[in-house]
This record gives sequence, C-alpha cells and structure tokens, in this order.
Amino acid sequence: MPGTLYLVATPIGNLGDMSLRAVDILRSVDIIACEDTRHSRKLLNHFSISGKLVSYHEHNEDTRSSELIEKLTAGSSVAVISDAGTPGICDPAFRVVQAAIAAGIGIVPVPGPVAFVAGVVASGLATDSIFFGGFLPSKKGERRKRLAEISEIPATLVLYETPHRLAKSLVDCLEVLGDRSAAIARELTKLHEEYARGSLSALAARYLAENVKGEIVIVIDRPGSQSTVAPRATIADHIRSLVARGLDPKAALKMAAKDFGISKSEAYRQVLSEKET
Ligand code: SAM
Repeated sequence: MPGTLYLVATPIGNLGDMSLRAVDILRSVDIIACEDTRHSRKLLNHFSISGKLVSYHEHNEDTRSSELIEKLTAGSSVAVISDAGTPGICDPAFRVVQAAIAAGIGIVPVPGPVAFVAGVVASGLATDSIFFGGFLPSKKGERRKRLAEISEIPATLVLYETPHRLAKSLVDCLEVLGDRSAAIARELTKLHEEYARGSLSALAARYLAENVKGEIVIVIDRPGSQSTVAPRATIADHIRSLVARGLDPKAALKMAAKDFGISKSEAYRQVLSEKET
C-alpha cells in the first residue's frame, strides 16, 4: 500500500506556533523533505524529532519529486516542510503534490502558520475577500505590469516583499494602484513584530526614509475603497494611539511624522492647528 504525503506547516518565527499534530506527524514519518537540512535539523532537534531528512528545494524539485514518489509508492510516508510557514506558499511543494496526485497517493495537509494570513488578519483591512499575490517581480517594469494586472481585483491584496525592495515596491503600488489604505506587517510572531498602517503615500515616504530589516507582508485595500474605509486618523489621533502603546510623546511625534510622510516640525504644526480648531 502506498504511503501518505504530508504537507506540514512550521513556525514563521515563534517556535510556540508549532502544532502538536505537526510534531506527532514529523515524529512518525519515514522521510522529512525540507529546503535546507541544516536549518530544519535545528527545528526538529528543538522538538526531539529525529527523522530522516532529505533536501527538497527549488533547484531539485523535479528530480527529488520523482524520488519521493518512488518511496511513497513503495509504502514510505513522507512529510514536506519548508524553512518557515506552509510548504507550497511561496515555497516548494507544488511539484511533489502534482506528482502525488498523478500517482494516486494520498495527500494530507497539516495546517499552521502562514505569514500572509497572519499579516492580513491584523492589518485592519477587510478580510471577506483576499487576493494573495506572492512576491511581485523584482524588475520595475515587470512589477508595474503585474500591479496593473491585479489593480482591479475587488479584494484586499496581500503580497510578500523583501526589505531592500519594500520602498521601491510601495512607490510602484502607489503609482499604479492609487493612494489606497495599506499596512506593512513586519517580523510577524517574532521579537520585533511591527505593523505600520496608513496610506500608500505615507508608507512609501516612511520606507524611502527608513532602512528596514526583517520579513515583510504588504496588505493593500481594494480599488475604490478610499472613500468607504474609516477616515484616516489625524496626526494627533495617531500620536495618542502611539503613546497609548507605550511610546513617549517625543518618539510618538517622530514616528507619527514618519507615518504621515512629513517632517517633525510640520507634524507639530498640524497638532497645534488641530488643537485650535
Ligand atoms: N511559506 C511561507 C509562508 O507560509 O508564509 C512563505 C515563505 S516565502 C519564501 C518568505 C516570505 O514570507 C518572506 O520574504 C516574507 O515576505 C514572508 N514572511 C515569512 N515569515 C514572515 C514573518 N515572520 N513576518 C512577515 N513576513 C514573513
């Protein structure tokens, strides 16, 4: 009887997000296919999982898929994991899943962390209809073409991005999609987890000025919703909410100015004029 192919989600930063079922299945399977054996061995050691690891990454997906299908057909059970999150989501798994379906092998997903879901649910943007677009192309022309293709989708757009391309991508998003509401979720589930929410113009201005690090999810409102979303907070509201989150007033003024894409002195001027009205 053929074995089962398990697709096992692993943490995107916080080891506490590993599910009991993921641990049980990884302990029980004959083979664990992973992107980077050294990286995954650390995770497995943490949970006392001593499975047989084989590499399965974007450069050997085709050949490794055939080998894994042979093992599955012969009765071995196989789990696929990726470096982080859910295999198949901007990570290898698709080829082996296709091959397993063709070979009549059973596939069992073991759900768990996935960065775009965590990013969108905390973004504050609508979650009734979501379009996940993975990574935008790295070349400007192709990126803008892709953005034009998805610009009319009536759903919240969710994208992955690298820190060094974030500012450029936000500028392209602004120019192609218009000045929609958006959120940047950074380092989800990790020590330096952070959200920045605001218009695309304010976020582009912030990240053009800031050298950002870490892993990033971009969330962008659907077309035509600028007028239907809650009116943007004034700078004074924004400062109050930052102070409520523990920032001292000076740091809050600095961050709010950044979020609104204006200078500190302009932010201060706006706060004073809001007080007078
Ligand atoms: N398979 C993963 C998943 O389920 O989300 C995605 C892997 S993809 C190669 C890596 C990208 O996912 C990162 O560049 C970033 O955009 C996003 N990502 C992964 N972990 C993240 C985190 N902790 N916080 C924010 N974004 C994250």
